[in-house]
Amino acid sequence: MDQQQFRKYGHELVDWLADYMQEVENYPVVSTAKPGEIKSRIPSSPPSAKEPMENILTDFRNLILPGMTHWQHPGWFAYFPANNSPPSVLAELLTAGLGAQCMIWQTSPAAAELEEAVMEWLQQMLALPEGMAGCIQDTASTATLCALLTAREKATGYESNRIGLQMPLTVYASEETHSSIEKGVKIAGFGSRALQPVATDDHFAMVPRELEKQIARDRENGLHPCCVVATIGTTSSTAIDPLEDIGRICRRHNIWLHVDAAFAGTAAILPEKRAILNGIEYADSFVFNPHKWMLTNFDCSAYFVRDPGALIQTFEIHPEYLKTGSDAEVKNYRDWGLQLGRRFRALKLWFVIRSYGVEGLRAMVREHLRLAQLFAAWLKDDARFETMAPVSLSLVCFRLNDGRPEPKLQELNAELLRRVNATGKVYVTHTALKGKYVLRMMVGQRTTAERHVQSAWEIIREKTQELLAGE
Ligand SMILES: *Cc1c(COP(=O)(O)O)cnc(C)c1O
Repeated sequence: MDQQQFRKYGHELVDWLADYMQEVENYPVVSTAKPGEIKSRIPSSPPSAKEPMENILTDFRNLILPGMTHWQHPGWFAYFPANNSPPSVLAELLTAGLGAQCMIWQTSPAAAELEEAVMEWLQQMLALPEGMAGCIQDTASTATLCALLTAREKATGYESNRIGLQMPLTVYASEETHSSIEKGVKIAGFGSRALQPVATDDHFAMVPRELEKQIARDRENGLHPCCVVATIGTTSSTAIDPLEDIGRICRRHNIWLHVDAAFAGTAAILPEKRAILNGIEYADSFVFNPHKWMLTNFDCSAYFVRDPGALIQTFEIHPEYLKTGSDAEVKNYRDWGLQLGRRFRALKLWFVIRSYGVEGLRAMVREHLRLAQLFAAWLKDDARFETMAPVSLSLVCFRLNDGRPEPKLQELNAELLRRVNATGKVYVTHTALKGKYVLRMMVGQRTTAERHVQSAWEIIREKTQELLAGE
């Protein structure tokens, strides 16, 4: 592709994307593609001769687009959001065009220093403790793995990197914790049986008393408690673990405290919600995802640690070919995580924070919180429904309950969900809370407005009516 063509198609695609952002509402949220359907239409071997861009773009529209699930749809109420924004997309375009591989300071000083600066901005926005320092990771899963590895090294005097893990270390997280914790525990060599689930209360938050009991019991049995993962905003119900109590226990027992606020962390930019992070001063590490709820397109996960020295000691490696004269004066982020090669992710975060301003980001979060409360109020006024968890942020867990026995209720709600999503206008997902099948209404898409939540509620009520009438 020559320069002229790049210019032509570049303009065309930006125009297409601008239209897409406006018209995405007209697409069915979830793709109706059947397994294997898309692949069966892709040639089984690569073209040996070059193909014109026109053909590639035609296939993109006809073949790929119908197979996409539209995460930026205003009817997106599923899982958690992965919301993006025009400035973020533009920055990502620049990142791709610059094509820099930002493994060390010298391989792009601006990337390293902008990353340091925007992480300091985030630190202020969330009012994180002064001494913390951070870097961008690809995902919260990776950040949590970094935390587990650092906790492991610290607990073994930095010996397990050298000789392998020789002693039984244990890790604690609530029974509502995210699956990435178990994955990390396995990868970090603890063995999955090292992960001790801690019981939760009626609000699905960790019970600190149970944590302390388990730690004492494990110590007596010759195990070595190493790390506690507290969740601020669990995936099923955005439950908030009591960080202050958990933090004090960790301090008392000299155990690493990792705080996973992958989704909910963004809410801490609101002064009136900052209390969700009370106790963060006890944390050794903290992660939240601007790629979920802060208009920064996937991937961008912000990882903060209290002691960067411990992180670096866990990951640093100094091959001759990467030594530079400035190593003593700069941050080389290759030593702050798993990857050597790193994308220039700070650029999109910088574009986003500057384009919206902290107040603009706060306004979005506040609106989502308001819409979730509104939806919860409508539910409350309809006796056919019940709310299944506290609405602490912008997630409403609920179900239809006409008094039939539990297994039948599960079938009823699963069928309701199927019918609601089959409209193509909204996408809602489910979870289980203490064994009960629950629908999750998650408000977090950038373009979701009151009319979309209203429309979702109308669809839910209409499908409920049909279902209960036996249609
Ligand atoms: C989404 C989520 C994760 C995983 O995030 P990734 O960035 O996709 O790895 C971890 N923990 C919680 C609480 C989450 O909500």
